[in-house]
Amino acid sequence: MIEFQRIILAHYHEIGLKGHNRSVFETRLLKNLEALLTGFPVVTIHRISGRICVFLREGTDWDTAVAASEVIGRVPGVARVSCGFKCERDLDEMIQTALAALSEAGDFSTFKVAARRNHTDFATNSMEMNQIIGGALSEACPDKGVRMKNPDVTVGVEVVQNASYVYARSVPGVGGLPVGSSGKVVCLLSSGIDSPVATWKMARRGAVCIGVHFSGRPQTSDASEYLVDDIARVLERTGCIARVYTVPFGDYQREIALTVPPELRVIMYRRLMFKVAEALARIEHAGALVTGESLGQVASQTLDNIRATDQAVDCPVFRPLIGTDKLEIIGEAQRAGTFEISSQDAPDCCTLFMPRSPETHAKLPVVLEAESALPLEKWIDEIIDNVEVRDYACSAYKPKKLRRRRDAEIPAQ
Ligand code: ATP
Ligand code: MG
Repeated sequence: MIEFQRIILAHYHEIGLKGHNRSVFETRLLKNLEALLTGFPVVTIHRISGRICVFLREGTDWDTAVAASEVIGRVPGVARVSCGFKCERDLDEMIQTALAALSEAGDFSTFKVAARRNHTDFATNSMEMNQIIGGALSEACPDKGVRMKNPDVTVGVEVVQNASYVYARSVPGVGGLPVGSSGKVVCLLSSGIDSPVATWKMARRGAVCIGVHFSGRPQTSDASEYLVDDIARVLERTGCIARVYTVPFGDYQREIALTVPPELRVIMYRRLMFKVAEALARIEHAGALVTGESLGQVASQTLDNIRATDQAVDCPVFRPLIGTDKLEIIGEAQRAGTFEISSQDAPDCCTLFMPRSPETHAKLPVVLEAESALPLEKWIDEIIDNVEVRDYACSAYKPKKLRRRRDAEIPAQ
């Protein structure tokens, strides 16, 4: 049997992709895929008529192709991913290729052919291709039945300008937009369950995500920082995080706890976190902050408290999980691969100096009055001066250099 070249097609939704917008989207997706597939035997990656095609090296086996397609399917912007072969625009070859693809499709008893030509310069239309290729496959596999509705396997055949692509494995991807096509955001990233999901969701909508983690250090251990690093490494596998800033926040919390009425502590911690995140957003030229809050989930997530924290900053604050139930968030965290890491307990600033009964309906004048006793501007300068940075692989991000008095960058491990 002739050996056909293995390919993987990344399909994306074309709705809303017109003119200039479209080529920016495609180029971004191509670059992101290129960066994430460096460990695989890829010859080249090209755009072909509404798809991105990954050409695999000669001799690449099925398992490697499937492993690469699984990586591709988790990359934002990919709506579907298909594993198959490239061949000539020749019906006999397409039939041979379809048989090769079917032979790797696992157990099945019913199939159909779904052919598509992107140009009428190929004389046979889609309907005729379905019949010709379908007929030949039926003859070659007499024990298999053709079924139009819900077959076990659909053989995709795509005829483009100078080649055909044939596949029998096609699975949904995560959808969304390629990271880097929707600007940049700063995500408040704890080691909890919610904020990694919120970050992932923003990345899936095409935002480059910069995390900021507030550690309880030096008042607590640095355990939460290791968990956040583990979470970031999971997000990095799909190009969903670019950098994480870590802020040793324990001493500031201690000062706040000593200065403001106990019931206002949490709001003060959170207002300071937002202000620091906004300062980092300015440095990063990021357009918004992101949190993993969900309405009413805990005391700080009441409408009044959300208003009182939002007021601390000028930039928009996005909360992609605001209307999501905890169980749904857990499901998303499991799919994103962050749940197990987030389920480990680590003291962070959330557990430090917590009052017995935090305010659930903060009144802004009272908050501002209490806050006026704190040297916030000085603290923010000091925090930015001492913030620690770790970068992750994200092809859409050009690392920003921090200008500060003391450079406290930690080298990557
Ligand atoms: P999560 O599971 O994301 O920690 P949560 O349900 O525990 O959320 P809170 O602790 O009230 O809720 O935090 C609400 C949001 O504030 C988080 O989703 C996150 O965006 C941000 N946040 C909380 N703690 C930290 C932290 N230590 N560092 C950075 N951001 C934080
Ligand atoms: Mg938390």
